[in-house]
Amino acid sequence: MTEKKWVYLFSEVEQAEKYAGSWDGVRGLLGGKGANLAEMSRIGVPVPPGFTITTEACNAYQDIHDFPEGMWDQALTALKVVEERAGKKFGDAQNPLLVSCRSGAKFSMPGMMDTVLNIGMNDETAKGMVALTGNDRFVYDSYRRLIQMFGSVVLGIDDEAFEEVLDEVKKEKGVKMDTELTTADLQELTAKFKQVVKKVKGFDFPQEPLKQLELAAKAVFDSWNSKRAIDYRRRENIPDDLGTAVNIQTMVFGNMGDDSGTGVAFTRDPQTGEKKMFGDYLINAQGEDVVAGIRNTSPIAGLGKDLPEAYETFLEIAEKLENHYHEMQDVEFTIERKKLWMLQTRNGKRSAQAAIKIAYDMVMEGFISKEEAIKRVTPEQVDLMLHPQFSVAAKDAAKKEGRLLATGVNASPGAAVGQVYFDADKAEQMHRDEGQDVIMVRPFTKPDDVHGMLAAKGILTSEGGATSHAAVVARQFGVPCIVGASMVSIDMNKRQLTSNGKLVKEGDWISLDGASGEAFIGKLDLTTPDVEKQTELMALLSWADDISRLQVWANADYPKDARRARSYGAKGIGLCRTEHMFFEEERLPYVQEMIMNSEKTQKMLNNLGALEAALKAGRREGRALTEADRKALEAEIAAEKKQIAESKGAKAYFGALDYLLPQQRSDFYGLFEAMDGYPVIIRLIDPPLHEFLPSMEDMLTEVATMRALGQTEGLAEKEALLDVIMSLHESNPMMGLRGIRLGIVYPDIMKMQVRAIFEAASDATLKGIVAKPEIMIPLTGHVNELKLVQPTLVQIAKQVMAEKGVEFEYKFGTMIEIPRAAVTAGEIAEVAEFFSFGTNDLTQMTFGYSRDDAERNFLVTYVEQGVLPLNPFQVLDRDGVGKLMKMAVDDGRAVRPNLEVGICGEHGGDPSSIEFCHLVGNNYVSCSPFRVPLARLAAAQAALRHR
Ligand code: ADP
Ligand code: MG
Ligand code: MG
Repeated sequence: MTEKKWVYLFSEVEQAEKYAGSWDGVRGLLGGKGANLAEMSRIGVPVPPGFTITTEACNAYQDIHDFPEGMWDQALTALKVVEERAGKKFGDAQNPLLVSCRSGAKFSMPGMMDTVLNIGMNDETAKGMVALTGNDRFVYDSYRRLIQMFGSVVLGIDDEAFEEVLDEVKKEKGVKMDTELTTADLQELTAKFKQVVKKVKGFDFPQEPLKQLELAAKAVFDSWNSKRAIDYRRRENIPDDLGTAVNIQTMVFGNMGDDSGTGVAFTRDPQTGEKKMFGDYLINAQGEDVVAGIRNTSPIAGLGKDLPEAYETFLEIAEKLENHYHEMQDVEFTIERKKLWMLQTRNGKRSAQAAIKIAYDMVMEGFISKEEAIKRVTPEQVDLMLHPQFSVAAKDAAKKEGRLLATGVNASPGAAVGQVYFDADKAEQMHRDEGQDVIMVRPFTKPDDVHGMLAAKGILTSEGGATSHAAVVARQFGVPCIVGASMVSIDMNKRQLTSNGKLVKEGDWISLDGASGEAFIGKLDLTTPDVEKQTELMALLSWADDISRLQVWANADYPKDARRARSYGAKGIGLCRTEHMFFEEERLPYVQEMIMNSEKTQKMLNNLGALEAALKAGRREGRALTEADRKALEAEIAAEKKQIAESKGAKAYFGALDYLLPQQRSDFYGLFEAMDGYPVIIRLIDPPLHEFLPSMEDMLTEVATMRALGQTEGLAEKEALLDVIMSLHESNPMMGLRGIRLGIVYPDIMKMQVRAIFEAASDATLKGIVAKPEIMIPLTGHVNELKLVQPTLVQIAKQVMAEKGVEFEYKFGTMIEIPRAAVTAGEIAEVAEFFSFGTNDLTQMTFGYSRDDAERNFLVTYVEQGVLPLNPFQVLDRDGVGKLMKMAVDDGRAVRPNLEVGICGEHGGDPSSIEFCHLVGNNYVSCSPFRVPLARLAAAQAALRHR
């Protein structure tokens, strides 16, 4: 049996591929960093030689708290090969090899785990390096860095302990920058750092290079289970069992003088997506200086002047990498005495705007297919493109008023308005406990600040560049961010900042424009961006539509919403809630009038109906009518008709309906006009009638007060209203008289609505508009309900079309929102021509939760304790509610193969729920207009995922 292979040289990528089976497998085995270092070596990019200890070794280490058997020997063997390739020997006093020990998991976890540079330095090798390079400044700069990094990362000494000493020495010498320290200063620093180690740990900084390496590798393994790494994985849904690899790599030095340097760069602008090299560098520095934001970096283009040849090579390599990976790359490089070395490449994190532009551009450049482009953008990113922004006018006005607070690097786009807090804990707390919109303001951020950054609407830092921690994290999570606003000076003690001659205290409001890098005092007004002008997004979404099997429709009640939905690409209206129109100020009195008189009037109408039915049948109370009976019956009918005609209540009732009819007609006309050519689903009245009346509590108090004060004026009307309210009172109105039940008990309202819809559709058709009304009857639970209601309504529809002399396509269907309807869908589909899943109610009734009560009382606990994986009102519960849906679609289509099926609950805009709708064979999902674009992308992604 061959020994388990724990260690792969960068040059052994083929072996890794063979073992892991795929590139994804290699990334899992060697970590993203290790896999790409090996890949870069394979395609001829200059990478300092090294090797990777696998994630499998990490997992084995976690189990036994020690290196697995054979691993360390393999590492030592690999180190020999590296020594040969580098022409140096690890621990050798004359010609020492130094290495870095770098973490690197399958998915990049920026700044979450540890890396130690310059391993192999000790008092002896330092001397050897001085003799070899003649550059003692560089040697002691490297040595003090090793002690600091090793001290904090491996030995767990608080970094502050070293920073304090560094600050002291700088102060003493009267210098600001590390680079201004002389060789003697650095030697002094090295000695002092050793003292820090001795003082805190009680032992000396380990001089034995192999011991340093072993401890560093173990520290990297341990950092997989640091609190911040675990928190990060939770949030990003990265499994805990992946482990991190360890990369041991020959050091190259950017701190050897002015012909050396180091930097990080993106092959395209990660904020805008523009195809332009974007990054920062430092001359005479080591890698960690750039990311840490401790020195002010220069924009990458400047390297063309400082070190033109290295820059030229760098641009060539960057292009080679993009061509190879077909993705925007985020790279780290170091230049050692004019020679360029690549130290890392990975797919770069980017803003939503950049993600969309880069995906689009790469299709145009012939790098990737349209399908691939669609996979590379997330629904959340599309959503961000619709988030509010500041208008130019609002910003100009604020500037005129002297409210420009600061300008800095535009690190992550988007507009944010919030109250200022100066530390992560406070920012998180004010957001969580007080529900405030917060803006976190810091000199710079660290991995420990991430919880505050996530709670913030926006982030502002006074230091750091476009690749600093704050910038990278903000872009990744779509939080608007400005960094390096150097005029901002923060006083942590007084909890305030001054900038541009202005003072901002903790809790004050400011506004950030992350796209322009400008911060303003106070709140700026937000406007919705013009999606139609975002040509790349529009193109991407039209490609998406070609791939999707599901259409995306919108929930819209008014023509202006319908127009917005249409401009966002909706192919229909899946839900127009007619009752919203009843609430309009001048209409509500008529609606109330109608309700006040509906019970009495309906009683008379029912009487009349029964009498007329008897006459028609020629039978009454079980026996045939005699001639005399007939006469008497006719007289009764006449009397009833007279009573109705003379009844004040009936007059008011019909008067109100007559008033509402043309109002509704014009509402619907506007919708048909806006959706010309597309279906418009209009839901007939759904809520319980009491919702249109004042609350019972209010009326009770009002009437009681009036009685007590002896006020008689208007009392009678109030009492009558109260009577009606009390008669309509239900103990569980959501399950009471509403929806189709109203259509049976008080049929005139729905009849009026259907007449209004068909009159509007006829008028529209006559004007050349293609109107496609679909009438949706809510809350069906039993097919008999539908059998009673629907044919009468269809009759009205036909009558109106005959009156107007037009014909057009229309449908009558129902919502499926009661479990019984889903279970008996086969019967219901015999009557209904379409189903629309009302998943809000369907979820409530399937779980037996009242949504408001559940979300207020126990749902959070349920999700926290894992009783439910997610809030089922946000993400469709596939196993329960979804099973009902699937059953309903299958049974319905068995009866009516062309049954149209959609969803109009809030789930219609949730990507996971959209995927489920794709799987059960919906024709469309319907969501709020603002979610239409992301739903279009999600629908295409679902189709691609389940090809
Ligand atoms: P992180 O994942 O936090 O970026 P890295 O392992 O990439 O950590 O290393 C931190 C910094 O040290 C980076 O700037 C990197 O380029 C630099 N670095 C790592 N290894 C070497 C090396 N062998 N020679 C020179 N610089 C290195
Ligand atoms: Mg790195
Ligand atoms: Mg409902």
